[in-house]
Amino acid sequence: MLETIHSLRLLDLIDILLVSYIIYRIILIIRGTRAAQMLAGIAFIIIIYYVSGKFDLQTLHWLFKTFLGSILLVIVILFQSDIRRALTQMGKTPFLRAEDVGERDLVEIVRAASYMARRRIGALMVIERGTGLRDYVDTGHRLDARLRHELLVAIFLPASPMHDGGVIIHKGRIHSSGCLLPLSQNPAIDKRYGTRHRAALGLSEESDAVIIVVSEETQEISLVQQGRITTCHDENTLKTALKAVLAPRKKVATRWYGWLDSLRGNESKS
Ligand code: ATP
Ligand code: MG
Repeated sequence: MLETIHSLRLLDLIDILLVSYIIYRIILIIRGTRAAQMLAGIAFIIIIYYVSGKFDLQTLHWLFKTFLGSILLVIVILFQSDIRRALTQMGKTPFLRAEDVGERDLVEIVRAASYMARRRIGALMVIERGTGLRDYVDTGHRLDARLRHELLVAIFLPASPMHDGGVIIHKGRIHSSGCLLPLSQNPAIDKRYGTRHRAALGLSEESDAVIIVVSEETQEISLVQQGRITTCHDENTLKTALKAVLAPRKKVATRWYGWLDSLRGNESKS
């Protein structure tokens, strides 16, 4: 034991730290999701495999051995959405500039949300940011129209042929309406939330989009991001919450750009 500790090199320590960090991030990503339950199921199968081997239960051992032989394929199929989400999160770097969500866009979205909430019109509005949402934009009707609150309301009126699904907004334009978003599989979601809220949560789990949901049942406006849902009771709360959610990333980007600018400044001086 002591010998092993003595023969540890600095590279081995870095290796162990990296593996621990990756396992920690995987646990953070799958915590509270269906994947966590599935992992527990797989662990159970592995235990049965070893126990059946120890007690020489040949048929049972053979069955689980065959299953475990193709476990990699099973894991990829079962966890495809979690793997996609994890890779998307890994792909985010602080060097990517946060897309600006202008003050005017915020005003238009907040006005539309509060108007629709007062009139019990259900809505699902997605603000695209760093993660590209092309796959979801393509599931709806391409609009590429200027963002205006009147247009948002017109889209979500129950009589409108485009009112089902969500709209995707990016840089002052409504890209698409009637978009089909991925439903969250998180078993911990409050049962009072239906598919509109689950679709918002699902997209927020696999992207950095900020989503605003207006409930036609309760007239509540919710802000959804990174798998979390926050209820905003009035126009001002929504506006403040939206600004707070969108601001920190801007600060990170500004900090990086400020740092790069200062380097460039120093370079030009020298
Ligand atoms: P509300 O509080 O407004 O009733 P809810 O969370 O209870 O919302 P539902 O009542 O099931 O949800 O809302 C159904 C509507 O949600 C559909 O008419 C459709 O517009 C939208 N919707 C459902 N599934 C999706 C999806 N996968 N992607 C985008 N929109 C969806
Ligand atoms: Mg409902």
